[in-house]
Amino acid sequence: MHDVLERQPDRVPVAMGRVRLFDHALGAYLGLALGDALGATVEFMTPREIVHHHGVHREITGGGWLKLKAGQVTDDTTMSLALGEALLRAQREGRPFDRGLMADAFVDWWRGQPVDCGNTCRRGIVRYLTEGTLEGPPHDGDGGNGALMRNLPVALATLGRPEVLRSASMAQAHITHHHPLSDAATLAFGQMLHVMLTQAEPLMALPACKAIARDLTARHPSFSYEPYPGRATGYVVDTVQTVLHHFFAAADFESAVVGAVNQGGDADTTGALVGMLAGARFGAQALPKRWLNKLDRSIRMAVTEQTSALLALALAP
Ligand code: MN
Ligand code: MN
Repeated sequence: MHDVLERQPDRVPVAMGRVRLFDHALGAYLGLALGDALGATVEFMTPREIVHHHGVHREITGGGWLKLKAGQVTDDTTMSLALGEALLRAQREGRPFDRGLMADAFVDWWRGQPVDCGNTCRRGIVRYLTEGTLEGPPHDGDGGNGALMRNLPVALATLGRPEVLRSASMAQAHITHHHPLSDAATLAFGQMLHVMLTQAEPLMALPACKAIARDLTARHPSFSYEPYPGRATGYVVDTVQTVLHHFFAAADFESAVVGAVNQGGDADTTGALVGMLAGARFGAQALPKRWLNKLDRSIRMAVTEQTSALLALALAP
């Protein structure tokens, strides 16, 4: 990995060192998987039900409505991995960020019988299969968090290229979700990843993220998250409020993720997204070892390899 990073020192304006870049990118991707695995246990529960059954839910135990094994992840992580593979394949085939390959990857993912699949994702994949269209018309019902939850690989592959982040994020999003609030959130979270992974001065990473959040809420006031309204559903507004509130309120990775998933609702997805942001902020070294030890080994390996490959793509000439 370090060889790859050394080879193209100027391609990405990465002021932080190469080793640190890899650690924080890996922190984001493993953080996504850990939040997914932790939150899935309490997905669709209310905060009261979680207190009743778990007290504070803070261990990766599996179970939940999907009856998962401890450390098993759901669509949030596996769809991200599918999208990341599509980006790598597109690069290999000389069709960088090809939208058809992204859509094909979602189809293959769906045919592989994932443990869960959101309704809007399923509808978009079926539309692509039946009509061949790479996006549907803008739709009020597309305001779920499904495009937001899987955009991490796009952010990694486009480091240092904000315009490609925008176009590739919208390309992958619109295959299943075509909604202005989904678009705005997907892009804003991608921009937060970019500033945290490329910020020269670590102390400036959080203020830079807050500036992006301020811009998001200025353009779309429905995302305002302070005071926190306390809803954590799969509607992208509720998801973003839950994730940003806990990300900015917490002083460390574990308390950010624990805070979000104990709101219940779409807890695997809020857990995944706050894990992604907090992992990018604090790095893989800061992830709880007892959670990493529980995480499905094949997922941990796939995430690690893909992080490395996507950074190499970003750094390629
Ligand atoms: Mn899920
Ligand atoms: Mn979910």
